[in-house]
Amino acid sequence: MKDRMGREIDYMRFSITDRCNLRCKYCMPDGIDCMPRWDVLSLEEFEAIAIAAASLGIKKIKVTGGEPLARKSCPQLVKMLKNIPGIEKVTLTTNGVQLDRYLDQLLDAGLDAINVSLDTVDPVLYEKITGRDKLADVMRFIEKAESLPIPVKINAVSIDFRQLQENGKATELSPQENWQQMAELAKHYPVDVRFIEMMPIGYGKQFKTIDHNWLLENMKKVYPDLEEDTRVHGFGPAVYYKVPGFKGSIGLISAIHGKFCNSCNRIRLTATGDLKPCLCYQERISIKDALRSGNTKEAQKLLAQAIFQKPAAHCFETLSSITEDAEMSRIGG
Ligand code: SAM
Ligand code: SF4
Repeated sequence: MKDRMGREIDYMRFSITDRCNLRCKYCMPDGIDCMPRWDVLSLEEFEAIAIAAASLGIKKIKVTGGEPLARKSCPQLVKMLKNIPGIEKVTLTTNGVQLDRYLDQLLDAGLDAINVSLDTVDPVLYEKITGRDKLADVMRFIEKAESLPIPVKINAVSIDFRQLQENGKATELSPQENWQQMAELAKHYPVDVRFIEMMPIGYGKQFKTIDHNWLLENMKKVYPDLEEDTRVHGFGPAVYYKVPGFKGSIGLISAIHGKFCNSCNRIRLTATGDLKPCLCYQERISIKDALRSGNTKEAQKLLAQAIFQKPAAHCFETLSSITEDAEMSRIGG
């Protein structure tokens, strides 16, 4: 359905848990409390929301978190969502650490694509960012991309990781070195590597994003043959570029320096059943009580209301106007 600005909203992000096996410094550093389990929606509740969503014109669902694979029934949920008439694509955003264990089940369930969040291929920096020594597990999956029947994308946040201090020590890897090492993944593997401007949400507020105008200029210097890639790669706001000889493309998702609110097509659902019309604002509409009392008509009405009243645009450029104060692990990225 269309929102009040006339935008077609056909994409929903389901955060299925606020738990995670990593502790990324900009998202969920050590010491964050998780929601009690009884507050978190069951698979059947997610399914009921997806059925209501499909009836309102939602066609694509992204399963995210927290870490969606921290919930071992994630493949089962993917299968349930895939069976809903009108839901054309179900995709997953994961940190990739547990894909060894779940990949076959996810493929059997009919998953359409996987986004792996990975900010660096430097093992020391990876551990600094995530608090865990798990890079090898993620790389094992990326190395398999060629043989997979579904597309794989890599998402990397654009920050200068020299800001990350640990025991008084910072990484020496410059943004230039880090983005280039990440981009080279698209040279060796058939994966799109997308850089995402850091948004001032949750712990992300402590980090300044790299300006993608700078990144693009830099990319043009390093790859003089870089050309815009206008093929459709998914259903999000990334702008893609192709380097001749690379197996995958490089994408830029520039929420701050390339505001794309005019074409926003999404609505978010938190693990505890709150609909979130926009990342930037605290405003939520709880759908959980309606669901738990079996009132599916009311649940559908609330969803339509949340879609309709989506704000015109975020206000990330004016920090004092941002009202969202939850961590990204609670919202789903
Ligand atoms: N655990 C999964 C993962 O890491 O892919 C899914 C959830 S995570 C919150 C989703 C994405 O949000 C990750 O790619 C993460 O890097 C990104 N993210 C977290 N905080 C962010 C922020 N403040 N601005 C931009 N992206 C952010
Ligand atoms: Fe976990 Fe993803 Fe947040 Fe990292 S970005 S802490 S992997 S939820």
